[in-house]
Amino acid sequence: MSATGLPPDFLSRLDGLLGPGGLLTDEADCAPYGIDWRRLFPGRAAAVARPSSTGQVASVVGLCREAGVALVPQGGHTGLAGGATPDASGRQVVLSLARMNAVRAVDPVGLTMEVEAGCVVQAAQAAAEAAGRLFPVSYGAEGSAMVGGMIATNAGGINVLRYGMTRSLVLGLEVVLADGGVVDGLRALRKDNAGYDWKQLFIGSEGTLGIVTAAVLRLVPRPRYTETALLAVPDPEAALRILAAAQDSLGDTIQAFELISRCAFDLLERYAGLSGPLPPSPWCILLEAGSSLSGLRDAVEATLGEALERGDAVDGVFAESKAQAAGLWSLRERITECEAHQGKSVKHDVSVPIPAIPAFLEAADRALAEGAPGTVPNVFGHMGDGNLHYNVLVGPEHDSAAINRLVHDVVDRFAGSISAEHGIGQYRVDELARRRRPEEMALAQRLKRALDPDGLLNPGKVLRV
Ligand code: FAD
Repeated sequence: MSATGLPPDFLSRLDGLLGPGGLLTDEADCAPYGIDWRRLFPGRAAAVARPSSTGQVASVVGLCREAGVALVPQGGHTGLAGGATPDASGRQVVLSLARMNAVRAVDPVGLTMEVEAGCVVQAAQAAAEAAGRLFPVSYGAEGSAMVGGMIATNAGGINVLRYGMTRSLVLGLEVVLADGGVVDGLRALRKDNAGYDWKQLFIGSEGTLGIVTAAVLRLVPRPRYTETALLAVPDPEAALRILAAAQDSLGDTIQAFELISRCAFDLLERYAGLSGPLPPSPWCILLEAGSSLSGLRDAVEATLGEALERGDAVDGVFAESKAQAAGLWSLRERITECEAHQGKSVKHDVSVPIPAIPAFLEAADRALAEGAPGTVPNVFGHMGDGNLHYNVLVGPEHDSAAINRLVHDVVDRFAGSISAEHGIGQYRVDELARRRRPEEMALAQRLKRALDPDGLLNPGKVLRV
């Protein structure tokens, strides 16, 4: 071993495989790859490998296996669970897919596109739009997050209600396995029951089972008309009644149904100078519907008008232009950033059955008031999917792990999940082990050992070993 803890000729061999610009070893160059977006998980990369082709990824993985060096796959590095950050040993190599960023093909008739893992999600959306189609995965980090990271975390976002999680939009996948072998499953088929659907194993596996190098994504027709509205509601029960009514009257044209608490609006005002268009209210709903048939505005107006008459909504505003719709969405999308300005917060990305949301919120608020006095819940999220970001603003005196356990205990009582969309990474490893059934954890370990017997793919993420 050399002073770096790596085999003596490892870095020069890696350099030889990657060619000019493909390897970073200088500490200052590697530093940004070693710390996550929230700056919660500082690590240190021995080097950053930046392959430009699937063949190069395969060679890098093969060399790391031969040398016994661990790899940490990385896309846009926007993950909120510390999954793409190396540990502090300085002996792990970050594998950045950023140079593999091509949109290889868009098929507007078959409604598919083939893209490389390093393609930024927004660039994939733009390529679909240029062909008159929609790639509907959308979330606050889409300007930096990459398709490989989106797939490896099975990202959700604001349109899950209508189009599903990333998993439901991946038709084909190419992966490099831990032994350096390439598996090409880049089929653009809507129906394919020929054998095991192995790609599902890699979607959401957070880089622990294989490296995603390219994918065939499903596109959808672009709705010609979109209606976006912000509604003030007195409480989450009323929001739930509006959701049920909207499902009856608007059907699957509803593509987003977000719940935002007063606390989030206060943070937006304080740290981003953004005030919402409605007078302060305990809760708001951001609703969006889309359709290519005319008459959508009338249908949405009728639904919301009835909500106002019933008293489920107390006020509301429609976006009258694309710019106004973007303004309403920026309120939702900038909450996370404003939370960071506020100081320390303990994040929870939980889901519970949709009808249980009001009772869950009441129980979680009560548990916090009793178990962690002085903390403030800042709640927002994808109510239409049962997914809430139940984040807790805390002071230096509060113990984050204890608050995590306290909130997750309430989630368990409602048969929910401790990670609805952000994944486990290193942030929730212990909580996953504590809460998943032993037989589920044992099955996960067997899959990990079968696909990565030497434990070199993103060790310590999702599972302890
Ligand atoms: P990274 O952060 O680089 O990596 C994430 C994980 O995937 C790591 O475990 C990494 O090892 C692995 N990985 C990355 N690329 C590959 C690859 N090619 N092959 C194998 N493994 C790989 N997420 C949501 O689901 N919904 C949201 O609404 C949402 N909103 C967000 C808003 C903000 C402001 C921010 C900062 C994040 C948000 N996220 C959200 C979380 C994050 O953006 C997503 O998890 C994103 O999909 C990660 O993509 P990335 O390219 O940044 O991946």
